[in-house]
Parts: sequence; structure tokens; C-alpha cells
Amino acid sequence: MRLNTEGLIIRESQTGEADRIVTVLTRDHGVVRAFVRGARSVKSKKLSATQLLSYARLSLFMNRDAYTIDEAEPIEVFFKVRGDIVRVSLAMYFCELLAELAPEGDDASEILSLALNSLYLLSGNRLPTQQLKAVFELRLLCLAGYMPNLVACAGCEAYSDEVMQFSPGSGLLWCGKCDPKQPARPVEIGVVTAMRHICYAEPAKLFSFKLSPKGLASLEETVQNYLLTQTQRRYKSLEFYRSVT
Ligand SMILES: [Zn+2]
Repeated sequence: MRLNTEGLIIRESQTGEADRIVTVLTRDHGVVRAFVRGARSVKSKKLSATQLLSYARLSLFMNRDAYTIDEAEPIEVFFKVRGDIVRVSLAMYFCELLAELAPEGDDASEILSLALNSLYLLSGNRLPTQQLKAVFELRLLCLAGYMPNLVACAGCEAYSDEVMQFSPGSGLLWCGKCDPKQPARPVEIGVVTAMRHICYAEPAKLFSFKLSPKGLASLEETVQNYLLTQTQRRYKSLEFYRSVT
């Protein structure tokens, strides 16, 4: 079976003398693992198009259970982030999250668009990294089936209060007066508004919001805590990112 699609390389490893195995987030079939055979020549177009953080037009061939990439034509490469330790470690974390949360064998076009837009903004240094990280994490969680319910207080349906309470375990929100009856942390309304924007905005406006440095720090902490609580695992690349920021 042949598969022609576009994909972003989110993991690569060497296998044997000449071959590599890559993990690709494809538009039409989600996360796919594939061999790249004999692409060691530095001049090979296939080599650069199948390196980590390449976005390429791919022709994959499926034989028994394994995919092999026959042809790869680069569309965009996000290698610019490699020059900066903070940005490259955030890009690696994005890749690890994609490998964990994107579907396999299913359409992943929205998640792929989120990944490409995030890497584009990251490589151009166009937004604070805290903001990019929080947007990527929370929007990815929404697309992967972990959308919190931020519409109103789960107790009294109040839309806003100066300080609200958010539960990372249930993804529910309470006003300052209602008792959550489950572990919840205080979150200022400005941060709640930003989280609502990330969950509910149309893709073109996703990254367009502003928060104070204090608000951004709180947004980052709240979203990261939600992600770690919901997915119940550790991310090596996140630990590395946190060690360099
Ligand atoms: Zn309430």
C-alpha cells in the first residue's frame, strides 16, 4: 500500500549501518513510524527532508507492518531553532507531546497545523516562549480529547469572578464563592480568559492575546499542571526545558 501525504518528522533514530527510523506526524494518518533506507549521503535531498523538525511531502510504502519512506521533498525545515538552547528544547518537548497525544491511523490535520504554526512562531522568535508553550499544550490537549470545561463556574454558573478556581483533575472551574470539593487552585480572571481563548478561539486567532509577565507565568504553570495531571506521565524533554529556563 502506498501513502502520499505531508508530514512533520518528530523523532529520529539510527538503525544499522545505513538506515534510520523516523516518527512522522502525517496529515492523513496521524503518527506513523517509518524506515528511511540508505539516506546517509549528506547531499541527499531525502536526508534533509527526513531529519528531525523537517516538514515534507512524503511517499511512504507499506510492506507487512512496516512503512518505508521512498521519496521525501522538503516543504519547510525548522532547523533555525537549533541555534538556541531554550527554543530547541521547547521544540523537542512539542515533538514528544505530539508523539504521545496525536492519533495513529487517523486524520491529524488540525494537530499538524497547530504544530507547524507553533514551530513557525518559535523559530522566528515571535512570541514569548511561555505563551507559545501554554498555547501549544492546552490546544493540543483540546484536540486530543482532554478539553477542560471553562465556560462557567461548575457550582453556580457565574461566568467570571476576580479570582476563580481550576481543578487540574476534572478540568472544571469554580468562582471564588463556590466550594470545589476537589483539589483546585486559584486562577486570576485574566488567566482564565486566556485559557478560554486557547480552548475556543478559531485557529487563525489562536496565538493573538496578551498577558502581563505575571499572568503568563501563571498561565504556563496552570496549563502545565493540567497537562501533567491529565496525561499522568513524565516528559524528559520538559524536564530538560525547565532546566534551561
Ligand atoms: Zn460559583
